[in-house]
Amino acid sequence: METYIIDSGVIFLRKALYENMITIPEVIDEIKDEDSKFYLSLLNLRVEDVDDKYVKKAIEGAKKTGDVHRLSNTDIKLIAKAIEVCEKIGKDKVILLTDDYSIQNLAMYFGIKFENVVQKTISKVFKWVKVCKGCGRKIEDDVCPVCGSEAILRRVKK
Ligand SMILES: [Zn+2]
Repeated sequence: METYIIDSGVIFLRKALYENMITIPEVIDEIKDEDSKFYLSLLNLRVEDVDDKYVKKAIEGAKKTGDVHRLSNTDIKLIAKAIEVCEKIGKDKVILLTDDYSIQNLAMYFGIKFENVVQKTISKVFKWVKVCKGCGRKIEDDVCPVCGSEAILRRVKK
């Protein structure tokens, strides 16, 4: 069974339709209206803190993808939680549920599967290209043939 890591949008949009869900305390803190709080009380949702070492890893990744300034502290911690759960139970069993493009971009960077809450899949609007971290060239491989740096994924408009 898949484990879903969910952001606050899943609660606000009443899309928490899964059995096995995890979030972080910071997401719960964003739920302030009474209706959403009531909805939250009906869910079988595990709220877990995230280990600092995964937060550091998420921040390092966000710097590399260039998303670091677009991500809130909560966003970073949510990704960190997804990395942590992936490490524990395997990447194939974890899905991050979010409509936030920067979170999705970073999830992609870490090889974490994600699904949109409402919007149609990101791949329809954007495509992903491999770009050299060193010289910025668009490349096909994981290592740049020109300067030998690692490739990172970049989202570009189609
Ligand atoms: Zn290069």
